[in-house]
Amino acid sequence: MNADALVHEINVGQALVRGACPICGVLKEFQSTLAEKIHVRDDLRLCNFHTWLLARAAPAKGAAAVYLKLLEGSPAGKVGALDCDFCQRVLEQEKLQLRELVKRMRRTMFVQWMKSQGSLCLSHSRKLRDYAPLKMRRLIDEIIERTRAELKQELEDFLEHTKQGDHTGGGILGHAAEFLVSQRGL
Ligand SMILES: [Zn+2]
Ligand SMILES: [Zn+2]
Repeated sequence: MNADALVHEINVGQALVRGACPICGVLKEFQSTLAEKIHVRDDLRLCNFHTWLLARAAPAKGAAAVYLKLLEGSPAGKVGALDCDFCQRVLEQEKLQLRELVKRMRRTMFVQWMKSQGSLCLSHSRKLRDYAPLKMRRLIDEIIERTRAELKQELEDFLEHTKQGDHTGGGILGHAAEFLVSQRGL
């Protein structure tokens, strides 16, 4: 099974986690799947982030084979997102998932959940606005403002605790970073 077939089984409906962007969630998983299914190709090009992703997420055999191939080619200069195979696949997948999310946001139950507990990162909220009908944009703004307020509160609480030497609850830092800039590699 190729990576795309696998990932079509993962969708924004299953990536619903309180306080996290569902598009980021799906794409993070998609990138891992791309790495897991990596195979050597002559024309494979990868950006900085996705080259490192192989070291972390690909089977060692696959990563070693790809690195060997890249070493032989000794590509000159940095590979940007536009030339990176993974970045391009992620972009395609992002469009699919944004459309899927708009579809789901027509269902009352889903809307209720997103309204009360769902989150979106800033970047995906902007992109989602381009796909969403006009009347859905208010809901997107509401989700963003609630998420922003919740994060602010949680960060302030976290800061307060660290002053007393309590560093638990550091997961909030990841949530804040995702909200500001999306998941890594996106
Ligand atoms: Zn996101
Ligand atoms: Zn890339």
